[in-house]
Amino acid sequence: MEGYLSKKSRLGAAGRVWQRRWFVLDGTGLRWFEDESKRGDAKGAIGLAHLESAGAAAHKSPTRFLVRCRASAERGSAASVYDFEAPSSAAMGRWVEAVGRLVCARGAREGGGGSGDAALCGEPVEERLAAVPGNGECADCMSSDPKRQPLPAWASTNLGVVFCIRCSGAHRKLGTHLSKVLSIKIDRWSDEQLAWMERLGNAQVNAELEAGLPAGVKPDLVSSSAEQVEAFIRAKYELGSFLAGGDGFVPPAPRRSLQEVGMIEFAGLLFVQLVAGSHLRVPNAWRTASLHCEFRLGERRARSRRCRGSPNPVWGEELAINRCAADEALLVRLIGADLLGRTECLGEGRVRIDDLPREQPTGVDLPLLPSSESARTKAPSLGLVLTYNPLS
Ligand SMILES: [Zn+2]
Repeated sequence: MEGYLSKKSRLGAAGRVWQRRWFVLDGTGLRWFEDESKRGDAKGAIGLAHLESAGAAAHKSPTRFLVRCRASAERGSAASVYDFEAPSSAAMGRWVEAVGRLVCARGAREGGGGSGDAALCGEPVEERLAAVPGNGECADCMSSDPKRQPLPAWASTNLGVVFCIRCSGAHRKLGTHLSKVLSIKIDRWSDEQLAWMERLGNAQVNAELEAGLPAGVKPDLVSSSAEQVEAFIRAKYELGSFLAGGDGFVPPAPRRSLQEVGMIEFAGLLFVQLVAGSHLRVPNAWRTASLHCEFRLGERRARSRRCRGSPNPVWGEELAINRCAADEALLVRLIGADLLGRTECLGEGRVRIDDLPREQPTGVDLPLLPSSESARTKAPSLGLVLTYNPLS
């Protein structure tokens, strides 16, 4: 292929400057000329044997790309990198692809087995994707702790993000028109897909799609149910709820139906709206980096998201818990977690289910014990709205 590109010059008296040249890429390699009319007189060339790879110059500009060359035909010999700028991002994509095809074809002739996919021709897909800012953790649940969740092993080739296996399930449910999911390790990747992923990446995409989320309020998806993860991912990518100026709306997670829960017979369903805490005793910022509530009804538990440790945190969150006939009271515990994730119970309270009116939202200001005996300070409490719906 042929066309005008700008190429950064070698270091000279004037520093490195951009020079517009006419480029020709063919079976001999890449040659350049002062302009299209002076094609007899090449200003420079990179022989085919020296071409190593080409790729988008990640995060610089959508039209810039890099071509890596080796000093001799030996693989792994000293390399140099040339900077190019194409007139458009589409042209950039075509040049990168054309160089990639040429290098692969050469590899196949040399017996290297090149078959046109990047995993065989260039750097491993995994390394290239991991080098993109933000890609060290899952784009959605931010999981980067392999003990809690595996590291990102999946990617959306159109959204340009990488995520963990758990969040990949929710991306698949969005449908391929919204998110095309590929395995980073197993699937075959084209150079074009990789170049696109390198231009985007978790940090850049989240800066846009989560711009409307105030710092620190992202829900803890690692400890949320699969339904809650799906609801968040749908809101983020499908509804654009967290864009700057988005409405922040997360559609409620689908509740489990009785058929799904199997043989246990439930007497009813309790909806718990956790509104806010007041006058909570928070030991200190380090020991109580985050607060969450745990609700227990017999064997079943639900927990709220974590929010920043403060005496008057606001949750505004609704949870649902199934009730068996034998369960008498809802146990509510306020849990503080330190920066290392170690937890401590900061108080608890109980609500008798049979004291609640049926099918009617009821506000409860639940005192937390142990509370201070001193009458001068206000007792810590949690504001809840409880609705109990018995199954007929
Ligand atoms: Zn995840």
